Amino acid sequence: MTAQLIDGNLLSKQLRTEVAARAQALKAKGVTPGLAVVLVGDNPASQVYVRNKVKACEDSGLHSVLEKYEATLTEADLLARVEALNNDPSIHGILVQLPLPAHIDAQKVIEAISPAKDVDGFHIASAGALMTGMPGFWPCTPYGCMKMLESIGYDLRGKHAVVIGRSNIVGKPMALMLLQKDATVTVAHSRTQNLKALTLQADVIVAAVGKRNVLTADMVKPGAVVLDVGMNRNDEGKLCGDVDFEGVKQVASHITPVPGGVGPMTITMLLVNTLEAAERAAK
Ligand code: NAP
Repeated sequence: MTAQLIDGNLLSKQLRTEVAARAQALKAKGVTPGLAVVLVGDNPASQVYVRNKVKACEDSGLHSVLEKYEATLTEADLLARVEALNNDPSIHGILVQLPLPAHIDAQKVIEAISPAKDVDGFHIASAGALMTGMPGFWPCTPYGCMKMLESIGYDLRGKHAVVIGRSNIVGKPMALMLLQKDATVTVAHSRTQNLKALTLQADVIVAAVGKRNVLTADMVKPGAVVLDVGMNRNDEGKLCGDVDFEGVKQVASHITPVPGGVGPMTITMLLVNTLEAAERAAK
């Protein structure tokens, strides 16, 4: 069997076209959806991420503001900026790019963002909303994974999903989203014993670890759907995921590539959340 690719670039393009149309409709009512991206310091990877986010906004007709600050910015000054953005009616979504410099308490900054503008979905109120099935913003990466499953018409009811990784931004919210769709969910992590025994039972596997070859072909049940969130570099310095793509694609029914899989979906879901925030504010 050779797995069918779930193409994150293609799906993103479709979703961004929908976002652009909805943004246009809001603009016609006098509301331009706006995202503020706050970057503190000069982390090179963060600079690339924020540039891509701002460009994605512009391409889809969303208004975006990039606020850049020196790494020496105080926590108090950053909190004051967040508060100003909370009160700015032209801004519907606020994203503070992580990581923040060590002298700033990142959790405190996230909690300062108004939950109504928490388009990253990292606020404790957003986490609580996801856990209880209430309306709120879902973290973009696992939300993108759910859209990928939806795009292949996958019915999660009664299926066994194994999520490898339990971070607050990917693994845990991913598990809750799968549970909400009636999957039976197992969450694996660095202390999990015999990961292979678990993954071999899985209909869906989400790998979100940050280590190459965490999932190899011998660990996958024939026909399983495999989503690869990981972002790593191989020996040649090329971007690769957590999954041994060449091996696993011989066993799985569907698989996401890296690059071109979950990565582009993350930014797309940020646009979707920002648009949603603007639509809610306009109501
Ligand atoms: P993280 O906070 O470092 O969490 C990694 C998780 O993997 C932890 O829960 C850890 O377990 C678990 N783990 C480590 N070694 C393991 C092993 N050998 N077997 C099973 N589990 C193991 O990372 P993250 O922020 O969730 O990100 C995970 C990966 O996704 C990274 O490569 C990151 O770059 C990538 N990512 C991609 C996107 C995207 O847009 N494509 C977005 C976010 C993240 P413990 O909890 O026990 O330590």
